[in-house]
This record gives sequence, structure tokens and C-alpha cells, in this order.
Amino acid sequence: MNKKRVYSGIRATGRLHLGNYFGAVKGMLALQENYDCIFSVVDLHTITVPYQPDTLQVSVRNIVIDYLAAGLDPKKCHLEIQSKVPQHTELAYLLSTIYPVSRLEDLPTYKDKRAQYPKYINMGLLYYPVLMAADVLLYKGELVPVGIDQEPHLEVMREIARKFNSMFGETFPEPQRFKTGGEHVPSLAGGGKMSKSIEGSYINLTDDLETIRKRLAAAPTDSGKIGGEVPKQGGTANLFMLLKLFNIDNEFKKFERDYRDKKIRYTELKEVLANAISKELQPFQKRRKEFEENPKLVDDIIEDGRKKCILMAEETMKGVKGKMGLV
Ligand code: ADP
Repeated sequence: MNKKRVYSGIRATGRLHLGNYFGAVKGMLALQENYDCIFSVVDLHTITVPYQPDTLQVSVRNIVIDYLAAGLDPKKCHLEIQSKVPQHTELAYLLSTIYPVSRLEDLPTYKDKRAQYPKYINMGLLYYPVLMAADVLLYKGELVPVGIDQEPHLEVMREIARKFNSMFGETFPEPQRFKTGGEHVPSLAGGGKMSKSIEGSYINLTDDLETIRKRLAAAPTDSGKIGGEVPKQGGTANLFMLLKLFNIDNEFKKFERDYRDKKIRYTELKEVLANAISKELQPFQKRRKEFEENPKLVDDIIEDGRKKCILMAEETMKGVKGKMGLV
């Protein structure tokens, strides 16, 4: 029996952070054990927001190395750089012909990005969910390990799959999001999610203890509002959520009591958290160094992934073009 296909990707907009790790990479690690997985560095999505062309290649390679250091194993999954498989854009164009523009304009992710980059509103940004649908459908992916912020894009993907199937005959599955325990890691800068593109919001997987301390020190807390239940939202809630994600259960209970008894010391909480995060990241950082010191191995993994992904992509495109009357 064929294994279910899994697809997920991360943009090369900066180094991987705890949000990417808990929301996406942990899911990838779990799924590579039992499914046919393709994990991508989605460089074509990266260029929809302001970026530096002269450092893009370095950023892409850094994500590949982050993936490998986090434990994605090329013997168990295929690693892909999106732009090296041209069928992504080819399929995206074909799928764009069956999807309404108005639906894309209404998406919260598009509105957020418009607000974030008011001088950089481009077609690619609007088209993002169509390309993302093509990313997953190109491999007939059924499961997509991504954070909760991607749910609107998953919905678009399913709508496109349904519409294509009803117009041209059964072709694509309707992909579902694979949820992890950390599907929304909050920003350290207050509201919203931790994100590479929001300065002060993140802790990178490559950060050392000193950097982690500094980043946590800058994270706001709800000063003056202690006593009673730990709040569900805001700076304090975010720090407690990180304690939970790092499984520091005893400490969580202790700080919860301290909060209730109005004697919480945030410097102490941040120090406990910084140490726990740094400890968890150390094996990753050690493996990362090993891959950095072996560029040939990384090149071979990228090339092997590209070849295998192109074969799968060609097969889907043959079917799609046949059904759409293009061959
Ligand atoms: P970023 O917003 O940092 O640029 P991407 O858009 O490249 O991240 O997202 C890559 C993956 O990481 C996606 O699956 C996304 O859902 C997940 N992800 C990003 N930020 C978070 C977060 N704060 N919490 C949980 N998952 C996240």
C-alpha cells in the first residue's frame, strides 16, 4: 500500500525560530517516520516580501542546514528547494485559472502582509495561497504540518482541489493540517505570533544562552497586574506558555503559585526559561556545526532531493495537463 504524502515548507526569510520549530518542524519530525514526506525551503514565497537578492542563497542554505540539524533525515524524507522544481509555478498558474481573485483579497494573511509592507503590495503576495496550494497538490500531499496561522491557506488548498476535481475529474486529495502541541508560539514582543519578519518577536534555534537571555529580558510582562489566575493573553501569558512548551512543569507550577501570591519575580522566571531553552537547543547547535563543516554532504542532499522531487512532480503534471486538455 502506498504511504500517504506529506508536504510542508518554510520561507528563507531568516533563521529558524522557536515558532517554526514547535509549529512546523516538530510535526515534520514525527511524520517522517511513517509517511512519504517532502519538506521544502520555499524561496519563491520568500521573495513576496522585501528581501536581499545577494544573500538569498545563503538564507536558503541556512534553512536546509537547520532542517538537517533539527533531525530531518534525507533517508526518511525528501528535501526540496522550491525554485529548483519548476513545476510548482507551472501548476500554480494552471490552478490560478480556476480560483476567484475576490477570495484571495479577503484572506487575513494577505491583509496582514499589506498592513506590514504597505509599499510592497505585489501580485505574488496575492498569489501566495495559490502557489502554496500548488506546492502541496503537486505531490498530492494529504497532510501538511504547519502552524495554525496557515489554516486559511489550507482552506484555499482544499477549495482548489475540490474545484479542480469537479471540473476535470478526481485528481487531488483535500489536504489537512497536521497539528502539533505548539501550533501557535506567541511573539516575545507582545501581541501576535513569533515570526522571523518581526524584530524582537523571536528566539532563533542558533541563539546562545547570552542572546536568549537578552531577548527574554526585552520581552514585556504585565507589570502591576499580579495576583489571581495567570492571564490568558499578553506578555506574562506568553512567558508561561513558553514554560509549558519547554515542559518545565515543576517550575510552571511554582511560578503560577508565585503569581497567585503576588510574589512572582520575572527576572527569575526568565532565567529559568533561558536555561531550559538553551539546554534544549544545544544538541541542535552541535549537529548544525557538523553539517556546516561538510558542505559536500549538504550539496549532495540538495541535489538528490531535487532529482527525486522532479520525478514526482512530472508525474502529477502529466495527469493535470492531460485532464485540462493541454496535451
Ligand atoms: P515566519 O512567519 O517566521 O516567517 P514562515 O511563514 O516561514 O515563518 O512559516 C514556516 C512554518 O512555521 C509554517 O508552518 C508556520 O505555520 C510555522 N510558524 C511560523 N511561526 C509560528 C509560530 N509563531 N507558532 C507556530 N508555528 C509557526
